[in-house]
This record gives sequence, C-alpha cells and structure tokens, in this order.
Amino acid sequence: MQEGIRIFERCNELALLSEDTDALTRVYLSAQHQQANQLAGTWMRDAGMHVWQDAVGNICGRYEGTEPEAPALLLGSHLDTVRNAGKYDGMLGVITAIELVSRLHQQNKRFPFAIEVVGFGDEEGVRFGVTLLGSRGLAGSWGDNWLDKQDSNGISLAQALCDFGLAPEQIHQAKRKSSDFIGYLELHIEQGPLLESTDLALGVVTAINGAKRLNFSFKGMAGHAGTVPMSLRQDALVGTSELILAAESIAKEFDVVATVGKIACHPGAVNVIPSDVSFSLDIRAPDNQQRDVALFEITKAAKEIATRRQLELSYDCFYSSDATPCSGFLQEKLTNAVTNVQGRSMSLASGAGHDAIAIAALCEVGMLFMRCKGGISHNPAESVQVADIDLALQALEHVLANINLPKTKNMLG
Ligand SMILES: [Zn+2]
Repeated sequence: MQEGIRIFERCNELALLSEDTDALTRVYLSAQHQQANQLAGTWMRDAGMHVWQDAVGNICGRYEGTEPEAPALLLGSHLDTVRNAGKYDGMLGVITAIELVSRLHQQNKRFPFAIEVVGFGDEEGVRFGVTLLGSRGLAGSWGDNWLDKQDSNGISLAQALCDFGLAPEQIHQAKRKSSDFIGYLELHIEQGPLLESTDLALGVVTAINGAKRLNFSFKGMAGHAGTVPMSLRQDALVGTSELILAAESIAKEFDVVATVGKIACHPGAVNVIPSDVSFSLDIRAPDNQQRDVALFEITKAAKEIATRRQLELSYDCFYSSDATPCSGFLQEKLTNAVTNVQGRSMSLASGAGHDAIAIAALCEVGMLFMRCKGGISHNPAESVQVADIDLALQALEHVLANINLPKTKNMLG
C-alpha cells in the first residue's frame, strides 16, 4: 500500500507542473516539460538509476542488470498531457516504473537484463499536431519535414528544441538500436469502461487498434419539400441516415468500432430536400484485416443505397494506421502475472493510440491496462484507486521475476 500511495502522490506532484493555473496542461518542449523531466530524473536517480535526457527531450534512466551492458527491458509512458488533462494518463506508467526499480534497488536485486525507464516528452501531439514525437524519436522514425512544423504561436519544432537546450541537427542521436532492448512494457490507464464494468483492476492488451478515416458524400437532387412526392425523391440525407445505421450494425457484426462524427447537409433549409451530404467515417479494429473487411461491407452498403436511391456516391480514405499487435510472449507473462495478483485476467484491445505503436518498430511491446473511474480520460475527472496501483505494481514485479532471458533471446532470434 505504501508504494501505491507514493505513486498516487507523485502523480499529484507532477500535475502541479502546468502552464494553466486552474487546469493541467503540459506540452512538449515547454518550461513545464523541463520541470517534469527534472522531477522524474530526480526520482529515477533516487531509485538507483543512471539518468540522462535524450536528444528529443525524453527523460531516461537505466538500472543495470547482473551483466554490464546487458540489453534492457524498457518500461515507461509519456509525461505530456492534453489540454485540461487528468493526472494519470501517461504519468502513471512512468512513476510506477520508477517505483518498481526503486523496490529492486532497495532489495539490491538485479536481473540478467537491465531495466530502463523512459518518460516520453510527447505522445499526445498537442503542441505540433504530430503524435508520438518522444517515442518516434527513440525509434528513429521522425518524418523529414517535422522540424518545420509550427505550434500555434508560429514557433517551429526546430526552434522549440533549441529553446529547450537541444540541437535539431542531433535528434538522430535519440534513436536506439533494436539490440538495446529485450522488450517494452507500458502500464497505462484503460481510458475506457471495460475493466470497470468487469469489476477487474487490471487487464492485458492484445493489440492497439489500427484506424482508417474516410470522407463520404452522397449527391441527390434538391427539390421543394412540399411538392415532390416521397416516391420521386433523391434525398441525400435519408441515404446517409441509412448508411449510418448500416455502419452501426456492420461494426457490431464484425466486432470493430465505427463512428460517423461529422456531417454537413446542403442546402440546409427547412423546406428543401437535401441534395448534398458529406460525412466522415472513423473505423478501428485490433486487426487490419478485420477492419478492412468491415469497411468493405460498409462501402458495399453505401453502393447499394446509392443505386437504390439514385444518389451519386463518392468516398476517399484520408488516414490509415496499422494495428499494433502486442507480443505473444509479453501477453503471456502479463496474463500470468495478472492472474496471480487478482485471481483472473482479462484481455482487451486498446482503442486509443500509445507510445508502444512507435516502439514496436524497435522491439516486442506489451501493455498492462489499469481501470480508471467511469472509463473517463482526457478529462480532469480522471480517477484511479491506490489499491489498483498496488496490484499493477505487483503484477509488473511478477513479470520481471518471470522473464527468462535465454528464452527471450531465442525468441528474438
Ligand atoms: Zn496516454
């Protein structure tokens, strides 16, 4: 319980580092980011780690294993927040990882592998509109033009790095090698309602959902709302309505999530039959094929509706990201650990994006989810229980104690 309380209190302490006085907002390469790195760095040092800040502003610590320069198990999460954020999204994973190392340090316990803890400087992408800047820096996957990206004050990412005391021409130095790590493990709040509704504190993530986003439009014929009989209408909004309902039932059938979140209807008058409707579709699944099959069914339904209602259909995909499967090996270790500490485990996909997406390019990734009250996140009402933090800490300890390095090495070839 002692450790859970300390983690809880440290989340409170980090939450004070905000650009707003009455809300928590901490963005990449800000003065508050600097302060958060200093604070987390101090905690890492106190936990017996060698500490450094990398070339993109991630705070990193290393606790050596029994063999010097052994590859490390990387633990961590992000230290940046959305605007008006909660206290646990990201921070919980970093602080719990530090606490885990602190316990090992106190017991003078070391493993055949090293443990590294990272607090990523940017995951949310609030300042420059690009997400995962911290973890993509560590994976060496920054885009060519990202240094030119500007924040809302017109400050470029290159300039912000300089202001932070970093050098834009050296960002590649943040890149780590695959051989540096045996895997990446992240504790994160679920940010959804599944664990709470199942009355479980912890769950094991199977995959981080991949997403596709499309723009659709139906074109029909505008007409007088009083004179054109129902049987002769080409109403683009009624066609759209039918498709939205079809998307809902297809999503349920194929176990994906699909959302129409934006819609524009023209001409938009009370006495005119709608002629042009454009709308968005966001579709996500833990498996790319599963998502694409569901999307195929939705477009098939759209074509059928267009033909039957004499509407002109167009659609295009403007965003696509692959699903990130979690490592089978780490899922197994996590499932055993969670079963050990809470009696049974639960597997679930992550609907939200996480740093593990970027780190998966380097090594196998695993994620442990912890319930949060009402599934609420990206909101100051984010809330967790100390007893759950304790369970998470115990589960992670169990994983560490049960990683068999030679087997891991074989597994990684
Ligand atoms: Zn997060």
